Amino acid sequence: MRCPFCHHEESKVTDSRMVVETNSIRRRRECLQCFRRFTTFETLDLTIQVLKRDGCYEDFSQEKLLKGLDAACRHTAVSREELRLIAYSITADLMERPQKEVTTKEIGEIAMKALQSLDTIAYIRFACVYRRFKHVDELMDALESIPERESQVVK
Ligand SMILES: [Zn+2]
Repeated sequence: MRCPFCHHEESKVTDSRMVVETNSIRRRRECLQCFRRFTTFETLDLTIQVLKRDGCYEDFSQEKLLKGLDAACRHTAVSREELRLIAYSITADLMERPQKEVTTKEIGEIAMKALQSLDTIAYIRFACVYRRFKHVDELMDALESIPERESQVVK
């Protein structure tokens, strides 16, 4: 991003946040040559393609992701608001990536990481759906990979 003051080509990003209303990312930048700061807005291309297990593509939908999270977290301590934040931050992460393609598996992994820190039971349910456990052993492996501190919540 060219500096508007000295026209130097390189700058570093000091802050970046998503502006939901306009689907854009607002970045604070600092020029590497004159060290002056400026702000840029980058409009996001929202058409991220999700590659599904059956080889088909579909447009990424934050709403659909939220539904999946919601189903996994029914009867758990995770609030709708927390889920909304997770869905939102996953979406923002995807938007920031240079690739415009993501697999359902990747989305599942990202979501699991987010849930793992919030609620163990919700995490396990979500893991069951997304990893498609074929054997009980696989489920047990996943359970064992939960940090000790959190797995105590289940007992
Ligand atoms: Zn500059």
